[in-house]
Amino acid sequence: MKQQLRYCQNCVMPDTKPDLLIDAEGICSACRSYENRESVDWEARQQALFDVLDRYRSKEDSHWDCIVPVSGGKDSTYQVVRVLQYGLNPLCVTATTCDLSEIGRRNIENIKGLGVDHVEFSPNQRIRRKLNRIGLEQVGDISWPEHVGIFTIPVRAAVEHRVPLIIWGENSQNEYGGPAAAAESEVLNRRWLEEFGGLLGLRVTDVASMDDIEPRHLIPYTYPSDEALKETGVTGVFLGYFIPWDGYSNAMLAQGYGLTTFGSTVEGSVVDYENLDNHQTGIHDYFKFLKFGFGRATDIACLHLRRGRITREDAMDLVRKHDGAFPWTYLGKSLEKILEPLELSIEDFVAICDRFTNKKIFKVDARGSLLKNRNGNLTKINYDNA
Ligand SMILES: [Zn+2]
Repeated sequence: MKQQLRYCQNCVMPDTKPDLLIDAEGICSACRSYENRESVDWEARQQALFDVLDRYRSKEDSHWDCIVPVSGGKDSTYQVVRVLQYGLNPLCVTATTCDLSEIGRRNIENIKGLGVDHVEFSPNQRIRRKLNRIGLEQVGDISWPEHVGIFTIPVRAAVEHRVPLIIWGENSQNEYGGPAAAAESEVLNRRWLEEFGGLLGLRVTDVASMDDIEPRHLIPYTYPSDEALKETGVTGVFLGYFIPWDGYSNAMLAQGYGLTTFGSTVEGSVVDYENLDNHQTGIHDYFKFLKFGFGRATDIACLHLRRGRITREDAMDLVRKHDGAFPWTYLGKSLEKILEPLELSIEDFVAICDRFTNKKIFKVDARGSLLKNRNGNLTKINYDNA
């Protein structure tokens, strides 16, 4: 049988991952990015960061020094800790997740307790549910509004509060692989958002006429105008460009500063310290699996593999065991309850899943129906060729 997925020879990422390139030697762009870290002069980068911070540090006490977008997770807790160590006075901005978990709420409160000014912006829930459903049905991503909002809301806050510097965490194009120019970028701007922000071709202006959604409902999801950005001089930098980024050590440090973890392995994942703030994340990750044949376990296994903490065999084993399980629960909440506000039944959900399942990756029977076990789990074609 023809092999459908081509895997990186170093990590366990398949070439179906959007924006990931596997080179002539069989190594993926994320692994190459990681290799390139060895040749980076991190001291010079740290100095460059301090230069940026000095340039933007508020000269009078009437403005904050920077905006730090915070979900409340391990990376944002780490960002806040670092920014405070650098002596900055940040305004932390949270865009509330679509289905905030109890742990997520606790971790936001924990960040506030670190000693920062904090604002939380919660977009209209009724509209958001419509957007969740549109995202799921049209582009197979329930988290579409969230992915837009986490980028637009802090930028809108920067304009509103006249704080030019936004300090983001990692550049996902770097650790997860992307075109070289984007992976090496230190700046997050409108172009980056449109290209890599995960909008999947569904633009904010596209949804304005769907399901009784009006343009006025989409203010939180609208990037500020070039004029407004220019007036404040808004610029965004990735902290991960200036200091070596590692989610695992960030999580350890964050726990030292009060981050609460799930306490047991998160469904579909292999760890307990990330993606704890939104009950919809399990559905988001599952659709990635249906479309591209890899899930969150693959992402995490690759991060640890590149850092030499596990072998490729161990990584493959974890992936086989945990990737792509049907998301019956996430962070302990049942799928039925997660779907309820979207007015979708499990049956509706399965039909949407099937529509987005890549039949070149998963086995089908003679009639073309997807093969599933009694838990609803699919079977990958050529799973063992990885
Ligand atoms: Zn790789």
